[in-house]
Amino acid sequence: MDIDQIIKSNYFKSKVNFLNKIVFDKDYNSQKLQFKKLKFILKIASTKIPFYKDYFYKNHLDLNDFKTVNDLCYLPIINKSFINDNYKNFLRVDVQYESLFSRTTGGSTGEPLKVIYDYNFKLRDLANTFFYTGIAGHIPRSEASLRVYGDVIDLYEYDYNILKISIYDLSFTKVQLINKEIVKHRPKYIHGRPSAVIHLIETFLKLDIKFPLSIKTVFLDGEVLSFSQKQAVEKFFNCKVFVTYGHTEGSLLGYSCINSDNIHFHPNVGIVELIENKEENQTNNLKKVITTGLNNLVFPLIRYDTNDLAVKYDSFCECSQNSLQIKEIIGRVQDLVYSKNGSKLCLTPFFFNYNLIDWRGVERFQYIQEKKGLIKLKLVPNKNYKNFETYFLKLKETILTNFPEGFEINFEIVDKINRTKRGKYKYFIQKIDE
Ligand SMILES: [Zn+2]
Repeated sequence: MDIDQIIKSNYFKSKVNFLNKIVFDKDYNSQKLQFKKLKFILKIASTKIPFYKDYFYKNHLDLNDFKTVNDLCYLPIINKSFINDNYKNFLRVDVQYESLFSRTTGGSTGEPLKVIYDYNFKLRDLANTFFYTGIAGHIPRSEASLRVYGDVIDLYEYDYNILKISIYDLSFTKVQLINKEIVKHRPKYIHGRPSAVIHLIETFLKLDIKFPLSIKTVFLDGEVLSFSQKQAVEKFFNCKVFVTYGHTEGSLLGYSCINSDNIHFHPNVGIVELIENKEENQTNNLKKVITTGLNNLVFPLIRYDTNDLAVKYDSFCECSQNSLQIKEIIGRVQDLVYSKNGSKLCLTPFFFNYNLIDWRGVERFQYIQEKKGLIKLKLVPNKNYKNFETYFLKLKETILTNFPEGFEINFEIVDKINRTKRGKYKYFIQKIDE
């Protein structure tokens, strides 16, 4: 069936309505739904997937041992490389994989993983897109939209009702050409990765060209969005920015709502666990995002480590009581620093490498760059930590020995690190404008 027939079908519409009902109907028991879906997946896993069949057997597990979604903890946390190393054992013995679809995760977080899925999953994925765009009042395909790409395509191309543009190496003439298409196409909303949209804005500002028409919404996904980036996008387009958080694996869907910038997880897509990072300094409240996808029955991901770190949000949002929320994802930070010779580096993985750096003696840290090749590292000591002096010397030594080349670091012990106006805590402040 062709996609337009699908989205017009009552079946598809009922799927999208159901996604709305789950989160917006306060009486809806989403935990019950999750448990039902989980049970179904565990039944498949324990009988048809060699890895789980074996795991259940060796650990004397029975399906009846799972009485709530919390009992997921009986099963191990797995990640991309573990699955890749045991790939065959994660495939269902009763499925002809050749006849299914597949897609491969990007290489930004380690080795790629080939995710296999069926038509049903595809349909649910599409319904998810309609759900989150619907929250902002938009309908994909029937409304014209603009997709901002980093590369992949030439200057611009059309895909049904989507105008796709590439933002690299834009000259004055190229921007004029793009603007002509934008005016012709009249997109209502924009979709793109934060870095690509920011790059577009920077180019327009640099060339002193105005965006040719007004936009109602900008959807940003695929990368961590810093507060300053979000502000820049909102200011430039003078509209609301919606953040979505998903991944190629399709085992979770995070979205921001009309009321807040927090990321809400949709209960129908995955069971998200936010767990302590063992090596982590617990006071900074960073949690690992682990998810169990509820929609892919041919290649289930159970307790899958997304490799993302998030800050948990404990209160409820006005919009709904039915979803787990996080304040922000910080594990895929795109913020870059400049070394002495001007090359750009992302230092966040370095600072969040808890195997390397022992942060226990520090309550908070923040690194700031004001000059190329120079990093200021602010540290708030953990008052409960004994022998801070000795600890600090060791910390300093670890950081200095392992830090990438081309940087000088100034350590500064401070009493506190201020949050941003919206209460967010920034790990990195880049003061160099380029
Ligand atoms: Zn909300």
